[in-house]
This record gives sequence, C-alpha cells and structure tokens, in this order.
Amino acid sequence: ETRLRFPPSPTGYLHIGGARTALYNWLYAKKTGGKLILRIEDTDADRSTKESIQGIIDGLEWLGINWDEGPYFQTDFDADHVASAKRMLDEGKAYKCFCTKEELENKRQTAQANKSAYGYDGTCRNLKSEEVAAKEAAGLPFVVRFKVPKRDGILSYEDKVLGEIKAKYSEIEDFVIVRSTGKPLYLLCNVVDDIRDRITHIIRGQDHMTNTLRQVLLYEALDAPIPVFAHMPLTLDLKKAKISKRSHGEIVAVQFYEKHGFIPWALSNFLVLLGWSSGNDTEIFSREEMIEAFTLERINKSNSIFNYRKGDSKFITDPKAIAINEHYLRTLPIEEIAVMVKPFLEKEGLWDDAYESEKKVWFTETLDLIRDRFHLLTDFADLGRAYFSDEFPVEEKPLKKNVLKYEELKRWLPMLAARYEALDDFNLETTEETARDFATELDIKPGIIINGMRTVVTGQLAGPSMFDILVTIGQERVVKRLRDVAK
Ligand code: GLU
Repeated sequence: ETRLRFPPSPTGYLHIGGARTALYNWLYAKKTGGKLILRIEDTDADRSTKESIQGIIDGLEWLGINWDEGPYFQTDFDADHVASAKRMLDEGKAYKCFCTKEELENKRQTAQANKSAYGYDGTCRNLKSEEVAAKEAAGLPFVVRFKVPKRDGILSYEDKVLGEIKAKYSEIEDFVIVRSTGKPLYLLCNVVDDIRDRITHIIRGQDHMTNTLRQVLLYEALDAPIPVFAHMPLTLDLKKAKISKRSHGEIVAVQFYEKHGFIPWALSNFLVLLGWSSGNDTEIFSREEMIEAFTLERINKSNSIFNYRKGDSKFITDPKAIAINEHYLRTLPIEEIAVMVKPFLEKEGLWDDAYESEKKVWFTETLDLIRDRFHLLTDFADLGRAYFSDEFPVEEKPLKKNVLKYEELKRWLPMLAARYEALDDFNLETTEETARDFATELDIKPGIIINGMRTVVTGQLAGPSMFDILVTIGQERVVKRLRDVAK
C-alpha cells in the first residue's frame, strides 16, 4: 500500500504552493489506491498558530483534498523524536559534541581564511566514554551530532522527477540532530514521523532537497526503508522570485481565491498544471481524469511561473487560472453553480429562499442565461445584480454611449414601457416585435432603443440577448425601469 503525507508547518495561511503539494500527494494516493496522511508540523512553537492550522484544514476541505488519516500533530510525538536520537547515540551512530559556540566560530573563520569549505571537523567524534562522562559530570552543555558513516565515496538516491541525486560523503558534515536544550531538530523529527507513519512516497518542493541527502542517512541509521522521493519544481513569479506571503500578499492564499469566487476544482485544475503536464494538449480534467492522468514522471523539472497580472477580470491572478475558472463556470451543471453562487448572493443581501423552492426554475434559468460572460462567482452578485435586485448601479460607459447621447430616450423609453405594460403575453417574440415596431414608427435604428433599454434595465454595456433579458427580469420590473428613466 502506498502512503503519502502532507505535512504543513502551520505558520501562515495555506498558500497556492502548499496547496499544489497537497494536491500532488492526494492525486498520487488516489491513483495508487493508497492513503494520504495529514500531519501538522507544529514543532516551531513560536511560529505555529491555531488560526493557521484551521486555515490549512479549511483550505484543503474547500479544495476537496481529503485525507485518510490525521491530522496528526508533530508535537504529540516529542518522545519518539528523543528516543530515536537516543537510539542512534546508543548504537554509536551519533555522538555528543561539547564544542562551544566560540570554538566553532573560530574554526569557521580559520577555514574561511584558508579558503577551504568549513564542515564540522569531528573534534568530539572520537571522545572516549570516560571523557564524555567527565564533561557531562562537569555540566558542560552538548549537542548531538549524527556521525556520517563514511568519509569517502558517493551517497545517492533516485529521485522520481530529477533522476539520480548524488553528493560526496566528504561534503556532508556531522550535522546536529539534537540542540543543547535537548530538543531534536526538525530534520530528524520529520524522518522519525515519516517512518512511524510508514510513508512510502514523499512528494515535496525542491527547496527541501538540501535536507534529503542527510535524511537518507537518517533512514539508513534507523534501519528504515528509504521512501521514494519526488521533488517538485518551485513556483516563481515573473521576476523569478519564489512566491511568498511576504512579497505577494493575499494573492497567493487559497482563501483569497475562495473569497473572490473561484470554483474549487478550477483552482485545483490550475494548480496541477503549475509543475506537471499530461504530455498532450489536455489541460482541463475532471477529478477522475486528473487522477488517471497524473504520474510522478511527468512532474516538470524546471521551475513553474505563476504569471499573475491584470487580465479581463478585475481580480488579478494568473490569467490562465481565470480562464480555467470561466471554463467551469460555463460548463458545470447549472444546479452545481446555483449552490456555489448562493453564499455570494447572501453576502450582498440578494438571496431569496424562494430560489430553492417556487422560484427555483427562474433562478437556475437566470444563472444559465448570464453565466456566459462571467469570470468569477462574485460576478453574479456584482455584474448580475440587476437580475436579483431593483437597486443596481448603472455603469458610466453604457450610460454615456447609449443613454445620455439621446436626450429623447427619456421620452421614448417610458412610451415603450406603456406598450410593454399593455402586452398580454410578455415573451421573446412580443417584446422584440414591440420594440422594433416602435423604432420603425419613430424612424430610428432599433439599436438605439435596444441599447438604451439594456443600459436602463441591466446597468451593463453587454450581456445576453436583450429579449432574453427582458423576459427573465419580467414585465413588471422592466416596465418600471423603463419608466424611471424619465426621473
Ligand atoms: N513542514 C515542511 C514544510 O511545510 C514539510 C517538509 C516535508 O515535506 O518534508 O515545508
């Protein structure tokens, strides 16, 4: 059985890089019929927060990334981490190092002066047990260092994405695994937890690669099988800087996408492409299709660019993310869209419970009519406001272009309103015929009447066919809006 894990450090919100990591692990677990374990790596007590843990859990749930075990918390396993360090000490695979900060600093400076690479020189590696006991008895502080088992030769592992990764043993110093406070280092905790959780595959960012070689040594020292590693490319911005909360702000937070009307699966679909490709032109995947298509071998080697900039939508992100969202907005069953639109209408006070009962047909037909030009779920409550409320803003551009230019519209539209009011059957044919006859009588282009009407009835410059709009908004409300133009 394959066992994967997503082990976030809860020091901030779930950002799109973290979400992508979670998604890849989830996809691989699903594809192989395995399990995904959620482990909160909260050992850094100063930087971990409850809000962050909740934010990560909410973000994963929103995205539809479910886990089979956990959340486990790293701090619940402190005893395991300490025990593993002790075991390596007992087996002679690690040793106590009493070198002081000053001594280490001097060695570093000497090495620098000689232009040689500094690595711990092993002063305490071969202390006799009496010497160690004496220093301990004297109350000298110590750290625990891992004893790199060889001084020459090559250490290597096979990365599923990058191929063979190697380093000379001589380049790996005896690294610290337990601080002088007795607290094991993250590097060790991470391995101990992965061994306990029986993790078979580790998919994580290339930024963790410096740890991986040393971690391979820890697996060996703890007699545990080495998991399969797949290191994903980093996600950079257009200036090739790693995306982060500090330099990019909320735009990289998953919750920001939720708040601004993204369809969760659309964001997942965008994220999967940020570092992986199917090998053909396919870019839109249903959940099942994505699970089927995903392979570790097709994860990109080179860095991904999160190309955020201003596009057609007022929400700034990678235009590809918006394009994928539009795709789902237009093609998902309208009942699913209706469920997703509800909270956005509620937030703007535009929701009516009848949309789930006697006005349900009207509601879904209306959404279906207007969704074609929308980018985000928020657009329904914003650009689509005129369908759900009589109070809506009229955009300046259509107002100037279609209304203010023709002083006479102030007379014409109320006249048309009277004819519409008199219609027994207010449908596509009768509304169109009435408008066209009216324009013919006045000897003006029907477009003047139709565009003026669009502006007054919806506040927008463009949209669906005008007569569809009239029928959807309904006789009474249309008549009132056309009359009100005279005010
Ligand atoms: N807690 C680490 C992080 O959030 C995860 C490291 C790993 O995947 O091994 O970056």
